[in-house]
Amino acid sequence: MTAYSFAAGPARLPDAVLERARDELFVRGVDGAATLERPFTGDAFRATLAHARERLATLLDLPPGYRILFLAGGAMHQFSLLPMNLLGTARCAAYADSGYWSQRAIDEARRYTEVVIAARYIGATPLAAPTTGRWHLPQGCAYCHITPNETVDGLAYPELPHTGAVPLVADATSCFLATPLDVTRFGLIYASAQKNLGIAGLTVLVVRDELLGRVAPHVPTAFSYRIQAQQDSTYNTPPTAAIHVAALVFDWIADNGGLTALAAANRRKAEGIYRVIDGSGGVYTAPVVPAHRSVTNIRFHLGDTALTERFVAEAEAHGLHHLRGHPRIGGLRASLYNAMPDAGASALAEFMADFARRNG
Ligand code: PMP
Repeated sequence: MTAYSFAAGPARLPDAVLERARDELFVRGVDGAATLERPFTGDAFRATLAHARERLATLLDLPPGYRILFLAGGAMHQFSLLPMNLLGTARCAAYADSGYWSQRAIDEARRYTEVVIAARYIGATPLAAPTTGRWHLPQGCAYCHITPNETVDGLAYPELPHTGAVPLVADATSCFLATPLDVTRFGLIYASAQKNLGIAGLTVLVVRDELLGRVAPHVPTAFSYRIQAQQDSTYNTPPTAAIHVAALVFDWIADNGGLTALAAANRRKAEGIYRVIDGSGGVYTAPVVPAHRSVTNIRFHLGDTALTERFVAEAEAHGLHHLRGHPRIGGLRASLYNAMPDAGASALAEFMADFARRNG
């Protein structure tokens, strides 16, 4: 029996990446150092960083005028750093409230600036993303922040909002590289790595050059997007191992048909699970309107806690792990990031269908 982890993150890596990481991270070379031991100032790491940047630029079809940064820490660090880097002389920033992670981003931004709620999701079941028409974007707000895929709620925007001259900023942590992305629509995109880009400790930023001019003078130097951009993300020691793994992941994506192929595979995997949920005669319920369901974080519920506990125990006995929902909302959640093979998604779908038959 093959075991699969459906964790929301850190998540499964592609098999080929795990194999390359084993060979490349831990084995010493002629310089007496393994990748884990090499200085970030040396040629070997510089080459890896350049490779990661170039590969990602190609995968994203990066337009001119954008920069890729590889920064230490997670997406929550960026919640805090965004306002001080992007506010400039503006007195407020706009945020769309679409659920758990956008609310955490709002809470952090409020510590630093006035936050205007540009749009709100419908917080009652069935959940729906904020509608993309008529957002509240007051004159002079610095940027508009969205969370296109809400990892906890299992909710995804079916389309991006139009924010006019206000730069759109996205916490794409749980959807980055799951589908092709029109980078020109964004001023800044950030995603921590432990879902679709590799291992924890790294956050990737894609930022429009002109926004780097807004960084406030008092921003601590290592947290300044401008300084990190000028210094090629190596102002201080970057998370070298996580960047190396990200480069392996980018290679794997390129070798497997790029983002278009991944998007099709992700849709196919998610549809298989949602089909079981919708065909279960009410044994499972998905609390999100169908057009706004996340492809990567599939949230579903059973009638009561005892049944949920039985599901978790039986799933684990079948090798299907980490299926509990986020502690704040309970229920169940299957995260199917890029590295989840069809076989894993099918194993879960078959188990769920069988469980529904036995407990309907
Ligand atoms: N934003 C989103 C959308 C997330 O899914 C997560 C992690 N689950 C975070 C932010 C927090 O990221 P980190 O733990 O890397 O700080």
